[in-house]
Amino acid sequence: MALRIIIGLALTMVAFAIAGRRLWWLFRLATSGQPAPERLAAVREHPGRGAGAEVTEVLGQRKLLQWTIPGIAHFMTFWGFTILLLTLIEAYGDLFSKTFAIPLIGHWPVIGFAEDLVAVAVLIGIVTFAVIRLRNDPKREGRESRFAGSHTGAAWLVLAMIFLVIVTLLMARGAQIDTGDFPYRHGAFASQIVGHWLAPAGLGANRAIETTFILAQLAVVLGFLVLVTYSKHLHIFLAPLNVLFSRRPNGLRGLQPMRSGGKVLDFEEADPDTDVFGIGKVEDLTWKGMLDLGTCTECGRCQSQCPAWATGKPLSPKMLILDLRDHAFAKAPYLLAGSDEAREQLPDAIKAQANRPLVGTAEAGGVIDPDVLWSCTNCGACVQECPVDIEHIDHITGMRRHQVLIESEFPPEAAGMLKNLENKGDPWGMGESKRAEWLTELDFEVPVVDGPIGDDVEYLFWVGCAGALEDRAKKTTRAIAQLLHTAGVSFAVLGPGETCTGDPARRMGNEFVFSMLAQQNIETLNEAKARKIIASCPHCFNTIANEYPQLGGDYEVIHHTQLLAQLVRDGKLTPVTPIEEKITYHDPCFLGRHNRVFTPPREIMEQVPGVRAQEMHRCKERGFCCGAGGARMWMEERIGKRINVERIDEALGTDPDTISTGCPFCLVMLGDAISAKKSSGEARDSLEVVDVAQLLARSVARPEPAAPAGPAAGD
Ligand code: SF4
Ligand code: SF4
Repeated sequence: MALRIIIGLALTMVAFAIAGRRLWWLFRLATSGQPAPERLAAVREHPGRGAGAEVTEVLGQRKLLQWTIPGIAHFMTFWGFTILLLTLIEAYGDLFSKTFAIPLIGHWPVIGFAEDLVAVAVLIGIVTFAVIRLRNDPKREGRESRFAGSHTGAAWLVLAMIFLVIVTLLMARGAQIDTGDFPYRHGAFASQIVGHWLAPAGLGANRAIETTFILAQLAVVLGFLVLVTYSKHLHIFLAPLNVLFSRRPNGLRGLQPMRSGGKVLDFEEADPDTDVFGIGKVEDLTWKGMLDLGTCTECGRCQSQCPAWATGKPLSPKMLILDLRDHAFAKAPYLLAGSDEAREQLPDAIKAQANRPLVGTAEAGGVIDPDVLWSCTNCGACVQECPVDIEHIDHITGMRRHQVLIESEFPPEAAGMLKNLENKGDPWGMGESKRAEWLTELDFEVPVVDGPIGDDVEYLFWVGCAGALEDRAKKTTRAIAQLLHTAGVSFAVLGPGETCTGDPARRMGNEFVFSMLAQQNIETLNEAKARKIIASCPHCFNTIANEYPQLGGDYEVIHHTQLLAQLVRDGKLTPVTPIEEKITYHDPCFLGRHNRVFTPPREIMEQVPGVRAQEMHRCKERGFCCGAGGARMWMEERIGKRINVERIDEALGTDPDTISTGCPFCLVMLGDAISAKKSSGEARDSLEVVDVAQLLARSVARPEPAAPAGPAAGD
């Protein structure tokens, strides 16, 4: 008896010492990152939000269950292990007393049954995981496998250890039944089966089996504990923390302002020598960023949904996180050295790791290749999918900010766009005078305001650069204006008073240009006393609604599809002219996934007589990007298949007469891909892409324009 206690406690002390040392090291590494007081403040000020996320995402496994089979397998394993903690208490108790039972519940058959049930559920779960891994073997499936680039050896080792945990548990319990030491007389069905198999071995052998497998179970569980702290299974401990400190509702919608030392950077006072400008070194990540790196489970869900990865580009959001993590771990001795003298004493390999540029080509020893960094469209699919709430876009933007503001390294073709934004206020450099030209083609008047909007005007229509200046997008703008006029909605526009919201500059990493444009617009909007804003561009919508509040601009912003759907519902717009077409709707990422506006555009299409809506395979939360976001619209797409062509190929699979959308960028990108398909004879000549507003305008009866006043009768 004494020996088993000594062995059990010795194993426990060794395992806790190793795991504890590792966790302390991880804590020190995470806190070597930048402060993030806003994350702590958010948890303090909104405890309900954090608690809700823990319940839905950690306990309820909401995001994991988006993938049905692996989700259920993970759910069973997670809850199985949680309930099996009871068996661990029983194993420790058995070290001290053969007849140990958990106080109060220890002989209740329901507990014995529940423990066996979850043990079997965990076995089913790990067999499912094994099958999933075999079916997605990266050696066979290549890039198609979501496990491509993951540490698959460690994953198999963990599955083997979980298997051993269950096997040793059932063996010990089976033997306990035969020795009479088992606390539950009924209910433990699986243990009873094992006990039945072991019974012929006799009492003495079963006593030995009981002791051996209880110690073996403890050894495996403790070994697993140590392995967890050294492997991707660290997420078992870190996921609840990462979920707690993640942005709510998620890491989508607006980008975060640039911070240095936990404070929002003031460009007028900032000093590039002492302040942190974006992420130029791994330690420029905040502790939350570091926590993200440690929490990644390597599941590859993000990778499987990434449009850049799907079209052959080198960017995989998973590998980006893993490369940053591997680098942070390798650089850790340098970061934690404590003094320059201690750093000098470090081996050359660690010093070389510390000197690697964070962004740079392989030849330059870079951790993240520039082609990886600049391939991101900010579509948000990775953030949406990640079961542990990792915020990939924040890290990508952080690195872009450093590259643009400090290194002046970015795709050269985007320089023209930035210059145009600074000098002319729009990405094409067309200038403010052109912004009101679309109005001249209307047969009614729209007030162009240059000061406070009158009290009789309900909405300010924010037209956006594309909506005002790009020929295809201008058709949408006119359709919206026409529909608002038909419905009797009072609205005004800023015309030349508008300037770019700054979205492309911010998504590219040029926070300086973004804040310049944003401040100018906020001043204009405040002067206009704008209360309700209609945005036709999802990028403008997202920026004004979710990012301008960071600079003091708080407005009620509505996307045109939301307002038009409401007007149809209210009977103020009645689609009557049939459009006998099969139409597939493309979800713009910044309207759908980022801001969860999925229903209104579909609702409008449903109301148009004759329209047969056909969803693409990748739609709504899983919609596939058009390739324009993240300022990619102004960069060349030199690697892999063009993202807009991939999307059109999917759309063509539905054999549509028309493709609809709700974003001027998508309109242009998909329109370009359709033109290419028409030239190669892969799409019919009549195929077009239109905004949902254009569809509605074609179907809604327009009021007759007022007849010009003629000579009075008798004159
Ligand atoms: S935001 Fe989109 S493009 Fe960028 S890494 Fe995530 S999934 Fe890929
Ligand atoms: S970042 Fe999230 S979704 Fe991607 S591999 Fe890691 S845990 Fe999975």
